[in-house]
Amino acid sequence: MLPFDHDLHLHLYGCLPARMLWETAHTKQNIDWDFFETEFEQQFAIRPDMNRLLQEPSEENFIRFCELYTVSEPVTFAQFQAKFNLIIAIMELRDLAEVADVVQKVCQTHLQQGIQYAEYRMLFPPWIEESLMLQLLHTICEALSSFEQTTHQEFEGRLSLSLPRTQQGEVHYEWLRYAMERFPAVAQMTTSVDFCFIEEGFPPKDQQALFQRILKDNEKNPQQALAILYHVGESFEDKGLESAVRWVHQAAIIGAHRLGHAIALGIPPKRYLGETYSESVEERLDQIEYDLSNREGLQNAGVHINPEKLLSEQHQLQGKNKTERIQKTYDLFQLEQIQLRQNYVMNYLRDHNVCVESCPTSNLRIGRIENVEHPLHRFLQANLPVVIASDDPGLFDTTLQQEAKWVSQYVTNSEETLHSLAQNAKKFRSEIISGRL
Ligand SMILES: [Zn+2]
Repeated sequence: MLPFDHDLHLHLYGCLPARMLWETAHTKQNIDWDFFETEFEQQFAIRPDMNRLLQEPSEENFIRFCELYTVSEPVTFAQFQAKFNLIIAIMELRDLAEVADVVQKVCQTHLQQGIQYAEYRMLFPPWIEESLMLQLLHTICEALSSFEQTTHQEFEGRLSLSLPRTQQGEVHYEWLRYAMERFPAVAQMTTSVDFCFIEEGFPPKDQQALFQRILKDNEKNPQQALAILYHVGESFEDKGLESAVRWVHQAAIIGAHRLGHAIALGIPPKRYLGETYSESVEERLDQIEYDLSNREGLQNAGVHINPEKLLSEQHQLQGKNKTERIQKTYDLFQLEQIQLRQNYVMNYLRDHNVCVESCPTSNLRIGRIENVEHPLHRFLQANLPVVIASDDPGLFDTTLQQEAKWVSQYVTNSEETLHSLAQNAKKFRSEIISGRL
C-alpha cells in the first residue's frame, strides 16, 4: 500500500458516497426535485424522474441513481454542478443533526480507508444568514472534534471555509472570525479559508485586499492563523492560456499558500494548436501590464518581450471598451512561449514554497484532459511542491489510494517521488503553512 494518508483537498459534501445519499433520500418525504431535474435536463438532455426512481429501493434503481450522481466521464463544469445538485436537493443545511451526521460519516469513511488527516472545504450558499452560518460552523467543528476524540487522535479532520469570490467573501470571512472568537472548537478546527466554485470573471487581483487582511489578522493572532487556499487555473473558458498562467502566478504573489489544481500551469500548451479563444480587452491590458512589470524574469526564462510593441498595443487598447472581446488563434510560436511562461511561474512557486494540490481524477473529468496531458508530469519535472488529493471522492467514486495509484501508473513509479508526494501532504498542512504551529 502506498503511504498516502493525508488528503489536503476535499469538499465535505462532495465526499458523500452514492450509497449514503441514496439511503438518506429514502428517509425523507417531500424532497423538492424540480431544481435538480430541470438543471440536469438542461445539461444532459434527459429529465430524471426522481420520485419514480425512489419509489422502490431496488438495486437496479440504485444503479440508475449512481449513474445520475457519479462523474464517471469527462464533463463541463456546468454538468458537474448539475450532478452536485443532487446533494443540494437531498441534504438539508438547516438540519444541524443531519450536518453533524454527514461530518461523522465522512470522517468514518476516510478513517476506514486508512486516512489519518483530512482538510474539508465547505462553501455556504449565498442566501445564508449570519445566525445559521455560525450554527453550522459550530456544528461542523464540534463534530470534527468529537470524532477525533473518539478515535483517540487517530483521525484528524479540519475545516476550510470556502469564501464566495464575490463581495460576500469579506462578509463570510468576518462571520468566521467572529465564530472563532466565540466557539473554541471553531477556532481550533478551522485552519484555512478557500476560494472555489466558478473562477471565470473573478481574477485574483480582486482578492488582494481580502488576502492582505487575512495575512494581517494572522500576524496579530498566530494562534488562530488561517492558511489561504485558492482554486485557480482549473477552468479558463473566458481567456487564453497565457492569461490563465498569469492568474496562477498572481494568486501566489498576493499570498495564497496552496493552489488548487492549477491545470493551466502544467498542461502542454501545444494541445491548443490551431484552436481559437477570446478574452476581454481588460484581460489583455492586465497581461500587458504583467509582461512589462515582470519583463526581466520572463526574459530570463526565455520569453520574448518587446516593450515598444506592448506599449503601443496598450495605447491602442486603452481607447476601447474594456468588456469588448478580442479573438485569437493559437499558433506554434505563441504556444512555445506559453510553455516558457509556465516554467517561469513554476520556478516562482518552487522558490516561494507555494504548494499545488493536484487532483488526478477531478482534472481528467472536469478538466477534460488525457492522462499524458496531466499537469502533474510537468509539476514533478519542475520539482514543485505538490500534493495528491481527491477533491470530491464521493462524486468521482474514488479514494486517495486510487488517486495515488493513478500517479504510479501514469506519471511516475519512482518510490522516492511517490514517497515525497505523500510526505508533502504532511508538510503542507494548513496549520503549518499559516504559521499557527
Ligand atoms: Zn476542489
